[in-house]
Amino acid sequence: MSKRPPNELESRLHKAILSTPNKEMTAKDTETIISEPNARERALNFLLGVGLIKTLVDSNRRVSFRAVTKGELVATKDLNGEENLVFSHIKAAGSEGIWTKHLKTKTNLHQTIIDRSLKTLTQKRLVKRVPSVQHPTRKIYMLEGLEPSISLTGGPWYTDNELDTEFIQHLTEVCYKFVRDTTFPKRKEGGGEGVLYAISNPPRYPTAQDIRSSLKKAKLTETELSVEHVEMLLNVLILDGKIEKLPAFGTSMWDSIANDEPESDSDIEEKQRKKRKSKSVDDKSHSKKRKKRNESESEESSSSEDESRIKRRRKRRKDDDETESEPESATLKRKKKKKKVEIESDSSDAMTDGEPKKKKRKKLGVLSPSDASSSEEDEVPRRKRKYLGRSPSPFLSRFGDETDGSVYRAIKEEHLSLGWSEAPCTLCPSFDFCKGGGPVNPKDCVYYGEWLAAASLNAIEDQE
Ligand code: SF4
Repeated sequence: MSKRPPNELESRLHKAILSTPNKEMTAKDTETIISEPNARERALNFLLGVGLIKTLVDSNRRVSFRAVTKGELVATKDLNGEENLVFSHIKAAGSEGIWTKHLKTKTNLHQTIIDRSLKTLTQKRLVKRVPSVQHPTRKIYMLEGLEPSISLTGGPWYTDNELDTEFIQHLTEVCYKFVRDTTFPKRKEGGGEGVLYAISNPPRYPTAQDIRSSLKKAKLTETELSVEHVEMLLNVLILDGKIEKLPAFGTSMWDSIANDEPESDSDIEEKQRKKRKSKSVDDKSHSKKRKKRNESESEESSSSEDESRIKRRRKRRKDDDETESEPESATLKRKKKKKKVEIESDSSDAMTDGEPKKKKRKKLGVLSPSDASSSEEDEVPRRKRKYLGRSPSPFLSRFGDETDGSVYRAIKEEHLSLGWSEAPCTLCPSFDFCKGGGPVNPKDCVYYGEWLAAASLNAIEDQE
């Protein structure tokens, strides 16, 4: 091992590897630090020689280097090969730690050697034994400077490796109180019992993040609680049937109605005035049209009467002539031709009338299949307009994107002060034999006591 201190290039390379998040660097990345191949090779060899870096080979046979701090180097300097091996495996386990049984499997060392190595490493304050809430009997070791993970400590719900039920109960009650106070309106003195918010004006139900913030503000505990921890408490309340979780977007429907700004009196008056105006204009135009139509109809009727009279006379004369001259087959042919002409004229009428009809249909919003594509194109922006016009949910505006889209609200508990349906007689196996003065009688009934006691307890709770 070289006794000289590392030169500038070697120090630069060592610092560069140390600065990476996992203190590792691939052989290719070292080229960016020292581009000259011979100099790089010399620096790597020196650092490997003094133990400031270690070679790692992954499953794809890619070589990388892991930097060793100077403090670590000093601490592990006096370790023998077995102790070094045990230490490296403990180090690799990180904050999860490693069980001595797994250590034995990985190192293939005898249990006595492992125990001795662990004793030495613990004495040198390089590793420590950590308890596990999941497996209290297991001997788990991890590096001295690391904090054990939640899987080992159990998170905030464990104190001295024991489930802190009192702490959980206390926090759960606080969470419930917060959700209940938000869900129901505040009771007014001398009334307001069982009052609920109107469905058109729902309260802003809290999210898990909101409850977490309120717990933090209340400074009930010094333990840092995350949103997941608060959700665990809320899940307990959900399972107890005290609260319920609902998606925040569902309530936006009520919100769109609730948040629509009420029209002012001037707006209403303006609308009414416009309506009256349009009605009067329509009436005028209708009366004018009606007048015109009547006039034209009267004119047409007088002229058409004369025409029809003349036509009828001519026709009669013509028919008489034809019956005399033409055979029956010819009349049949003419009838057929007439029919054909009638059908053609009908169809042409339909063709000519088709355009205005179509236009009318379009105006009414009834679509023909050929219009489907265009109507779809029209439909999209209309939908967009509708969407854009909708007011945003207060939950989104208040809590932003930090929520997972769920809010919590309390469930109103129903107390039956003396439920007759729960009376013991309804389920009593001795009901058929029960009668006054008999061996089984209501006077000596043993079931009634519990029922009456429960009823009086409910009454006391209600008074509170
Ligand atoms: S009075 Fe008591 S014993 Fe008689 S039927 Fe009712 S519950 Fe049963």
